[in-house]
Amino acid sequence: MSSIDTLVNTTIRSDVRAIHGYHVADASGYIKLDAMENPYHLPHHLREELAQRLVEVTLNRYPVASYATIKQSVCAKLGVPAGYDVMLGNGSDELISILCMGCALQDRRAVVLAPTPSFVMYQRSAQFAGMDYVGVPLKADLTLDMPAMLAAIEEHKPSLVFLSYPNNPTGNLFAEEDIVAIIKALDGFGLAVVDEAYEPFAQQTFMHRLPEFENLVVMRTVSKLGLAGIRLGYMSAAPQLLAEFDKVRPPYNINVLTQAAAEFALDHVEVLNQQATALRAARADLAAALAAMPGVSVFPSAANFILIRVPNSDDAYAKLLSRKVLIKNVSKMHSVLTNCLRITVSTPEENSAFLDAFAASLAS
Ligand code: PMP
Repeated sequence: MSSIDTLVNTTIRSDVRAIHGYHVADASGYIKLDAMENPYHLPHHLREELAQRLVEVTLNRYPVASYATIKQSVCAKLGVPAGYDVMLGNGSDELISILCMGCALQDRRAVVLAPTPSFVMYQRSAQFAGMDYVGVPLKADLTLDMPAMLAAIEEHKPSLVFLSYPNNPTGNLFAEEDIVAIIKALDGFGLAVVDEAYEPFAQQTFMHRLPEFENLVVMRTVSKLGLAGIRLGYMSAAPQLLAEFDKVRPPYNINVLTQAAAEFALDHVEVLNQQATALRAARADLAAALAAMPGVSVFPSAANFILIRVPNSDDAYAKLLSRKVLIKNVSKMHSVLTNCLRITVSTPEENSAFLDAFAASLAS
């Protein structure tokens, strides 16, 4: 064994060495329907105005640590209840990691629990924080298996339960009363994190229920709204909880360019909201077109992506790739997703290009 291999083996954790990195496919030259991005840019005149703002940004100093201005604009523009603050993350990915690091115990392994399949970073962040992860399978219709969820909560007493609302990669909204029952079951020992990354497309939220539940954390991101490139996530919860998690947050985690771009974009949030409205309409059209295709079943979606089942997902995925369309093949994630594909809703033009390529793929 070479000396660098020995060094890797002795220094790097074996569980890290055993896994693959978070895979991001190279999308250059493809119609990109794999990552739930908003396909629309800010209008040109706004981008020019933004460029002017960015010229003024102070790059030689660290960001102002309180983030007061950007937090104020997030709270005011993005529906955080009065009296509640937010904590900001470099994407909600960072917030998931901070939540885990803040809850990992020293005397025993704390547990993160989530329905499965769900967003992969819940499990990864739990692992990296040295926590145990318990995944409770969804039912075949992709709803929560409530007896199993409540039994697992009772047995494992998780510190954190992540609930993606709507769920990624399935696209459905779990029943509100089921989420409430989970929050209540965790009372006194665990936090329920309702991850509302897709809220602009679901228009269902637990934000306004923060005052009702001390153990509720609501997490969101501006990524799906149209600002995935700036990396800004936010979460709200009781101030006492936010104060503790804030100690775990790396200092200056939101850079000055992100802050300036976010403040500017949130001043024009109506543009982003209109884009979300267009994408919701496009979702209905795309779902209807897919449902009309022979052999394709379409699952209900409250997000900006649609989950479908086809006779042979690997074949359809490969044929789409050869036609320069990149979607996500989620069929190997979990047995309930056998032969399932996830397609991001895009512009009417890209959706119809996808539909043409998909129809040709199914036929060939
Ligand atoms: N939560 C869910 C449910 C997601 O699907 C994603 C991204 N795919 C994230 C969080 C992470 O979002 P961000 O871009 O804010 O890190």
